Amino acid sequence: MSIALISTGTELLKGSVVNTNSAFIGRELASAGLQVIADFTIGDHPRELYAALSDALKLADIIVITGGLGPTRDDLSLDAAARFFGLELESDPVLEEKVTAFWHRRHTGRVPGLVLKQARRPADSVVLDNPNGSAGGIAFRTVYDRRERLVVLLPGPPRELEPMVRQALIPLLKSQSTTDREYTLGFLVSGVGEFTIQQQLEKALKEFEIELAYCARPAGTRVFFSGADRGRVEAAAERAHALLSPAALPVGELEMADYVVKLLGQSHLQLVTAESCTGGLIAGRLTDLPGVSEVFKGGVVVYSNELKHRLLGVPEELLAEHGAVSRECAEAMIRGAVSCLEADCAIAVTGIAGPGGGTEAKPVGLVYIGAKLGEAEQVREFRFNGDRRAIRERTIEHAFAMLRE
Ligand code: ATP
Ligand code: MG
Repeated sequence: MSIALISTGTELLKGSVVNTNSAFIGRELASAGLQVIADFTIGDHPRELYAALSDALKLADIIVITGGLGPTRDDLSLDAAARFFGLELESDPVLEEKVTAFWHRRHTGRVPGLVLKQARRPADSVVLDNPNGSAGGIAFRTVYDRRERLVVLLPGPPRELEPMVRQALIPLLKSQSTTDREYTLGFLVSGVGEFTIQQQLEKALKEFEIELAYCARPAGTRVFFSGADRGRVEAAAERAHALLSPAALPVGELEMADYVVKLLGQSHLQLVTAESCTGGLIAGRLTDLPGVSEVFKGGVVVYSNELKHRLLGVPEELLAEHGAVSRECAEAMIRGAVSCLEADCAIAVTGIAGPGGGTEAKPVGLVYIGAKLGEAEQVREFRFNGDRRAIRERTIEHAFAMLRE
C-alpha cells in the first residue's frame, strides 16, 4: 500500500514556517520500512485540499494529512476531507470531554463552538490519541474510485505530531498490508567526496540489487541503501561500510554530532567549547541533543581578542604577533578552555567567516579548529568555500569530525 502526504498551511508555502513534519514523517516511516511516494504542500483552503486529495488518491491508497485540525477559522482539514469523501461529522462525547478539559486548563466559562468542533469525527473513524494537544488525530477507511483507502489526519504543531507519528501512525500503517514494504539503512561518510563514494559502491553492490542514494551534507555524504528484502539491504550496508571504513560512521549513524557525543559518553569524557567565528553554534548544536549534559559541560563565546585573553588566557603578545585567526591562537584557546573550564576534551575554533575581514594572507574561509581528546591534541587549518553560513556550517561539522579522529 503506497502512502502520500498532504501538508496543509499557507505559512508553509510562504516560507515563514519550514515543513519539518514531512521530513519527520518521511524519515520515521522509512526507518519502519514504509515508503512515502508523494508529498503535497497546500494552503489553508478547501479547494486546495480537494485538488491535492484527488491527485494524491491517483498515486496512493493511504493519505496522511497534517495541520488544520485546530479551533481557528483557517483549520479546515477535517471538514474539507469529510466533504470530499461525502462523510458526515458527528460529535464524539469522549472527545468533547477531552476538548472541554483542555479548554478549562487555561480558560473559564463556556467552551466556544469553534473549540468544540474539534470533538467531531466521521462515524466509524478511529481517534489517534494526542498527548500534547486538544485535537486528536483521526483515521478512517473509505472507498474511493472502487478501492479501499485509509485517510489519516494529524495536527500540525510538530510537538503534537511527532509523538503521534511514532505511537499511533506507524503502528496503524504497520497493521496494513505487508506488501510494498521498503527497508532503508544509511550512514554518514566523512572526508570522501560523493562521486568517489559512488564509484566505490556502484559496482561492488550490484549483486545485492538494492537502491543506492546519496545526500551531500556539510559533514560529508549520507549514503542510503533501500529495497524490499531486509536481509539484502543489511548485507549491502555492511559491505559498503567495510569498503568505506574508516571514513564511514557505523550503520544507522547519520549525524556526526550525535555520534561523537555517544563516543565521548561511552568513554566518560567531558567536553567544553571555545568559539570565536561560530559564536556559540557548536554549543547550540550540542544542546540540541537530549541527554548531552552527561558529556557537555558548557563553553564560551570569545569573539573579541579581549575575551580570548581574559576568559581563556590567550597571551596578548601571541594575539599581537600572530593574530586571532592563527594556529597559535587556536592552540592557546584549546589549552585555555581545558584549564579554565576544566574538562578532558575541548573544541576551539577561530576563523574568518566573511564576507568582510579577509586579506590576501588570511582570506575569508580560513579557519583553525583545535580539538583535544584526552591526551591527544591537534589543530588543523581549513580553507572553506562559500558564504558566511556555509563556512560556519562546515566549521561546526569539521570540529565534530575532529573529535572522532
Ligand atoms: P492548532 O490546534 O495548533 O491550530 P492545527 O492542527 O490546526 O493545530 P495548524 O494550524 O495547521 O495545525 O498549524 C499549527 C502550527 O504548527 C503552525 O503555526 C506551524 O507553526 C506548525 N506547523 C503546521 N504544519 C507544519 C509543518 N508541516 N511543519 C512544521 N510546522 C508545522
Ligand atoms: Mg490551526
